[in-house]
Order: sequence, then structure tokens, then C-alpha cells
Amino acid sequence: MGFKDVETAVYEKTGGGSVRCGVCPRRCVVEEGELGFCRVRENRDGRLMSLVYGKAVSSGIDPIEKKPLFHYAPGSKALSLATVGCNLRCDFCQNFRISQEWEGVVGQELPPKRVVEQARKHGCGGIAYTYTEPTVFLEYARDTMKETAEDMYSVFVSNGYITEEAIDVISPHLDAINVDLKGNEEFYRKHCGVPDPEPIFDAMVSLDKKGVLVEVTNLIIPGENDSEEDIRKRAKWIKENLGPETPVHFSRFRPDFKMLNKEPTPVSTIEKAIGIAKDVGLYHVYSGNVPGHETESTYCPDCNSLLVKRHGFSVVEFNMDKNMECINCGRKINIGGKGWVPEKLFKGS
Ligand code: SF4
Repeated sequence: MGFKDVETAVYEKTGGGSVRCGVCPRRCVVEEGELGFCRVRENRDGRLMSLVYGKAVSSGIDPIEKKPLFHYAPGSKALSLATVGCNLRCDFCQNFRISQEWEGVVGQELPPKRVVEQARKHGCGGIAYTYTEPTVFLEYARDTMKETAEDMYSVFVSNGYITEEAIDVISPHLDAINVDLKGNEEFYRKHCGVPDPEPIFDAMVSLDKKGVLVEVTNLIIPGENDSEEDIRKRAKWIKENLGPETPVHFSRFRPDFKMLNKEPTPVSTIEKAIGIAKDVGLYHVYSGNVPGHETESTYCPDCNSLLVKRHGFSVVEFNMDKNMECINCGRKINIGGKGWVPEKLFKGS
């Protein structure tokens, strides 16, 4: 099977040969022969085409903890798929070479069926759409998810800048998502090229209502999005709109791309953010990029027993029974996963 460009899943013709994309809230109006903001959708004779279908720029095998997803199929491996392109312009992007600074659509030919075969061959529990923004390769992700076997999961690692129409395309097949919630409105404008982040919040609520497990990551950058007021506001929003069980990850920034002049986030700042979120009433709050820290692990919100001990991206202890209850006090914990039978992880029964 050769490379093929496919028609964008959601767009409309606006007359005179131009089209309006409906995949992300930018809703680019694209003239004939032009590209959208993400540079991977082109108006070709009045049809908006995806240029990255089946063109994998990356397809590695990662622990699902690396996404990070801590409450979905812990200890499993995920085939991690990306194409070039992004609908944001983050100054601190860790994958800027494939998200922003690429020239020409590059990638290995990897049709949906082959992605699934590779995942199976490598013993993966499922497929993660990640590294760049999966919304910009929505059609490739959609068709791969449709090919994915009943016992394998599909997860997104996303900036959440996606429309309701595009959510409708993927949500029937999507099991979990980690949304990178970056900062306040000013931060989104200054560092990500997003004029209004409101649709990101709407998307998280919508996905949660549709039964997709939502985990939230917040990369904390010194002096940019680390104020107590800001962190408290974000944590409060998560609790009130997604619920107190929502797993939240405060991740440590390391200088990258256009933010090389910043210092790495002190571990004490991450610890402080975790303290604020717990004070607000969130039960499962984790550190990211602090390997070996006790806050990488899951504890029972009722009796504080250690339930899932992690080190870096590895699960090293799992103290729950098969009903996902704390083996000390019996409290139900929101951990699960399609086709996930982690018998070697169980201590109880
Ligand atoms: S997916 Fe690309 S073309 Fe479509 S609205 Fe977003 S940035 Fe524009």
C-alpha cells in the first residue's frame, strides 16, 4: 500500500474554493493551494486533505507511564505513534524538530494495519498517539483505532486544542487521554500561540463526559506558570469539572527549544504544587521528571497505603486486588484498562 492523502474528517466549504477546517479551534480558513496553520492540511481543489496519513515520523515502544498515564493499564507497553505537525507553537516544546521545525512531510510509510501488527508483535497493550499533537493527524489515528484489536487500548497525549466535532470522530474508539494543561490565558497567548484556551477546558469536560479517562499534566516553568494562585486555580478547576479522582501530574521543566535561558524547575516547586493540589482536594497528584521521588507512586486516599510504587517509568510494586481496591482498606481506586490483565502485578486476589 502506498502513501495516500485522505480528506479531512471535519471541514466545510466556504465558497470560492476556500474551506474552513473543523478539526481544531483555530478553524483555519484555507484558500486553494494553501496550508492550514499546522502545515499538514492542504486545500487541494476545494477539498481539505490531510498530508500525513500513514506517514509515521516516530513509532517507538514506551511504558504507558511515560505518556504519562498512571491510572490506565499500569505496567503495560504502548506503541507510540506520531506524524509531523502541530496546531500550537510552544516555546518550550520538547519535540520541536518534528512538531514545528520540520521541512516537508517526512515519515516512514506505516498504514494503520501495520501499526496494529507492530504493536501486537512487540507485546504492547495498545497504541498511544503522542509526541506531536494527534489532533493534526486525526484521520490516521481514527483509522488505526478502528483497526485496533478489541483487547488493545487507544490513548492520546494531547494539548486538548480540539473541537467537539473532532472529539466525536475519535471518542468512540478512545480509552484515555493525557491533556497537557499549560498555564493561564496569558501563558497560552505568550508561549503557545493560542489566542483563547477556553476550548481546551471544554474538550476535557466533553471527553470526560464521553467516558474517556482524562489525566492532566501541567509542566511547571519557573517564573511563568508557577505562582500559587495559578496552580490553585487550575487544581480547583480540575476538581470541580473533572472530579477529585482525576490523576494530575506536575512535571519538571528542563530547558529546551526557545526556553534555553530558563533554569530547570526546582524539585521543591513541584512538591509545593502537589501540596496545593492536594489541599484543594485532588486525590491523585504526581510529580513528573523527578525519578525516584515518592510522589511518583499512587497512595490510597483513605488510608494512605502505598498502592502502586513507581520508579521513573517502571511499576515496581502493585498492592491492589483484582477489583482495583486497596488491599488494606478496600477503597475502590480508578485504575483499569481495556484488555489489561496485570496478573503479575497483583498482590491480593
Ligand atoms: S487542524 Fe490544522 S488546518 Fe485544521 S484548524 Fe487546526 S491548525 Fe488549522
